[in-house]
Order: sequence, then C-alpha cells, then structure tokens
Amino acid sequence: MAGCGSGSDGALVVTGGRCHGGTFAFARIHDMSATHALPPIAIIGGGIAGLCAARLLQLRRLPFVLLEARDRLGGRVLTVDETGAPADEGFDLGPSWFWPRTQPRLAALVEELGLAVFAQHTDGDQLFERMVRERPQRYESGPPEVLSCRLAGGSAALVRALAAGLPRASIRLGTPVTAMQLHDGRVTLSLGAAQGADPGGDSLVARHVIAALPPRLLPTTIQLEPEPDAATVARWRETPTWMAPHAKFLALYERPFWREAGLSGTAQSMVGPMTEIHDATTASGQAALFGFVGVSAAQRAAVGEMELRRACVEQLARLFGEQAQRPQGTLFKDWAADSWTATGADQVAGGHPAGGHVAWVTGEWARHLTLGGSEVSPVEPGYLAGAVLAAERAVASALGTARG
Ligand SMILES: Cc1cc2nc3c(=O)[nH]c(=O)nc-3n(C[C@H](O)[C@H](O)[C@H](O)COP(=O)(O)OP(=O)(O)OC[C@H]3O[C@@H](n4cnc5c(N)ncnc54)[C@H](O)[C@@H]3O)c2cc1C
Repeated sequence: MAGCGSGSDGALVVTGGRCHGGTFAFARIHDMSATHALPPIAIIGGGIAGLCAARLLQLRRLPFVLLEARDRLGGRVLTVDETGAPADEGFDLGPSWFWPRTQPRLAALVEELGLAVFAQHTDGDQLFERMVRERPQRYESGPPEVLSCRLAGGSAALVRALAAGLPRASIRLGTPVTAMQLHDGRVTLSLGAAQGADPGGDSLVARHVIAALPPRLLPTTIQLEPEPDAATVARWRETPTWMAPHAKFLALYERPFWREAGLSGTAQSMVGPMTEIHDATTASGQAALFGFVGVSAAQRAAVGEMELRRACVEQLARLFGEQAQRPQGTLFKDWAADSWTATGADQVAGGHPAGGHVAWVTGEWARHLTLGGSEVSPVEPGYLAGAVLAAERAVASALGTARG
C-alpha cells in the first residue's frame, strides 16, 4: 500500500506497491474496443471523478466526451497562485489532504501518476482559542493519529496528471449540460454556452451518461426528460455535497515564522471567524496558514469578503503574534457562493454524505445514466478518494449496461 511520511529532512517518502486487484478495477470492465461506431459515453463534470472516469475510458480506447461547465478542470479542486488565479502550482482553496493509509486506491493512483507527496506539517505546539477575553492556550501535541498527506504543487497536480493523458478534443470546457432527453436508447444532451458566448443551442447524442457531479446538482442544473421518479430525485436532493457550505481563507507570508516559535500552525478556535487553522506552506517553501471560516454562508454574504479577510488576519495575529498581521497576500474562496458546487440546500451545513450501496438511478434512466461523483461512493464519500472509487464503479456500471 502506498503511503507518505516525512523523511529525516521532512522530504517526501513514498512507500509501497499497489492496492489489491490493480489500480483500477479493469477485470470487471468488458472489452468494448470493437464498438467505436457507437455514440460516445458522455461524462458530465471535469472534477476528479469525471477525469478518473475519462481516464478509464481512454485506457480502454473507448470514445467519450467530457463536458465541464466551468472554464477549468478540477471542480472542487482549486489550486491558485498568490493573485488567486487558478495555477498549476500554488495554494489550495479546495481540498489539500489525503490519507494514504485509509485511502489505498487514491494512494495507488497518486503513485502510478508519479506525483510527489509530502506530510502535512504538524511539528510544534498547537493553539486553542476558547473565548474572546482569554489569551489563546498553547499545548503540546503528539504525532497525529492519522497522517495527512499533501501533493507537491497543490491538489491541482492530480488534475493535471489525470488530464495529461486525455485527448484534448474529448474535453469541452465552459459547456454546462442543461437538459437530457432519453429517446430510443440514446441520450440527447443540451449544452449551454461558455460564459459570454452565443447560446447556440448545441447538443450531442450519447449512448450512456456518467454524471460525475454532486447528486443534488443534477436536478438543480439539468432538466431530465422523462422525469425520474420522485423518490430518486429526492435522494439526489437530500445528499449533502461535502464542504459545499464552507469557505476557506489563506494568508501568505515571507517565511513560516510560527515554526521558529515552536508552533505547528495548527489552532482551534471557538471565537472565530476561523474555527480550524493549519500550516499551508507549500512543498516549495512558500509560507502560508489556512483556516476554515466557521461563519455561516448567510453571515458571510452579509458581512462581505473584505471584512471577513480583515477579521481572519486579525485572528491570526491574535493567535500567532504581530508578524501574522502583515501577510504578503490573502486568498479566500466561498464555496457556498459557487453555483457549480453549491445549491440553495448547501447554504446551511448539511453533514457528511452517507454513501452506501444505494440505487442512485431507477426506472427508465437506470440503463442510460450512472451517477459517478464522490458523494455516491460507498467508501470515503465526499472525499477525493471517494471520487476515484465512484468513477471506477460508474465506468464499470456504464460498460455493463451500455452495450448497444
Ligand atoms: C474547501 C474544501 C476542502 C476540502 N478538503 C478536502 C480534503 O482535504 N480531502 C479530501 O479528500 N476532500 C476534500 N474536499 C472534498 C473534495 O474536494 C471532493 O471530494 C472532490 O473534489 C469531489 O470531486 P468530484 O469530481 O466528485 O466533484 P466536483 O469536484 O464537485 O466536480 C463536479 C464537476 O461538475 C461540474 N458541473 C456541475 N454541474 C454541471 C453541469 N450541469 N454541466 C457540466 N458540468 C457540471 C462542476 O463544475 C465540477 O467541475 C474538500 C472540498 C472543499 C470544497
């Protein structure tokens, strides 16, 4: 099993071989290479799940088209530079961790793609801020029970590596799917236009659709004809999208001065606005702290981003001292305000998706539509690891049903 850990110099150590049965469950996938005359399989969503599904189809030399609403790949994976622009290397405004010991499939994929991994920095004391009128408490902490790992360059390294092997012509960015119509065993997908472009009423025909997106985005963004039964739509709508209600803040510094003071950069706070803070220094040494903003989406919208950024910097100064008051820059992403991740139902924290072996699609659509976003994974739903597993299952299921 692959894993990561700190070497004596804090550098990456990747250990171990493959997860059982190979990196992907190819044994279960039928050989469809003789069926190229058929319409492609359409994948909706270019997050980790959609990219993994595309990669599996590409490895089988099966035609696919990946339709992504945003003008970038990655979905909830968003790595940015110091200006906040999506970048191949930088700071994570979406996921930053994975846990190789408990997520062997993702660990094996990371290893197979040859990505460099390093351990989350946790050396040093932690801080706890209990109430406004009390100074933060400092306490010693042992090694973490489960080691969190990060990808060198940021989580976008995984997006880049997955996309690298895919044919450009099969990927359409800035292409939201707005409707799907099932007729004569084929699905016609209506495609919206890229932002600012002429809405051309474009469409394409697919023999099967893998919806690699959070289940509740499906009925919110795409009109299905025939309409699936009410219980199925209710199941999609009731499945929370992991982390969609949340916001992340980063402060960038010239150097990780908190480490020099024997602090790990980890802090918990009951004062806020951030409830949980961690060291976000990159593998290449660009110093940063990040925190999850614990203020509700409604409060964030009311207060405004500028004020929130100011309050977060003030909190960091309270915790880590005066040096924290002067970051080189700050970054902020409110996922609840991003309609390609969050819906109205995600404006309040909704808990963790339950996953499980659920019939995600029933009735007429069952043979032509497979849900494949992280939230539908029976294992690690909502996480990056869940996205990898959900994609494997979706491809196996799509190839099992989409024979004609
Ligand atoms: C702040 C934050 C922190 C997180 N931290 C971690 C972490 O540390 N570790 C971890 O494992 N996980 C973490 N997660 C969760 C992780 O990001 C997700 O599990 C993973 O990215 C899900 O991938 P996905 O491909 O299933 O879905 P998504 O990444 O949501 O991809 C779905 C894609 O579908 C597209 N789309 C939606 N509707 C349409 C449409 N109608 N037409 C076309 N395209 C459409 C979207 O634009 C998007 O690109 C975090 C998430 C957030 C937001």
